[in-house]
Amino acid sequence: MERILVSACLLGRECAYDGESRMDPGIIDFCKGLEVVPVCPEMLGQLGCPREKHEIRGGTGKDVLSGSASVISISGKDRTAEFLSGARETLRLGKANECGTALLKEHSPSCAVREIHSGRFDGSTIQGPGVTAALLEMSGVRIMSETDV
Ligand code: SF4
Repeated sequence: MERILVSACLLGRECAYDGESRMDPGIIDFCKGLEVVPVCPEMLGQLGCPREKHEIRGGTGKDVLSGSASVISISGKDRTAEFLSGARETLRLGKANECGTALLKEHSPSCAVREIHSGRFDGSTIQGPGVTAALLEMSGVRIMSETDV
């Protein structure tokens, strides 16, 4: 049976920044018959819950990995280290569980596959992955967006 990493909030875990889940019955249906490894990179990065809203400033998750962009909270705190730590721990769990695929929540500074917020905290978006999605993809894990399901 294939093992798959899945953003935990999509499965009903109340780990989103606002303390809510982002449960999606379509995702839960899709996961039936798969061995699911639920992960929340921001909880793994010890950011707590509820937590401030964060966005990537200066680029995408790929740029955070290369050191040319940062993850900033809405009150202006630099949380890049925590986001990197959560991404690395997610990758470690994925490798330890032999997950070849990750199914991830769109628009998150960690999990987004295709589109993130712009870093201006005004609702605007840019194309590109979050930090965890970028690291997983770079490391050979196939990343799927919730919107693919
Ligand atoms: Fe969901 Fe990912 Fe955000 Fe955690 S970091 S709440 S799993 S989108």
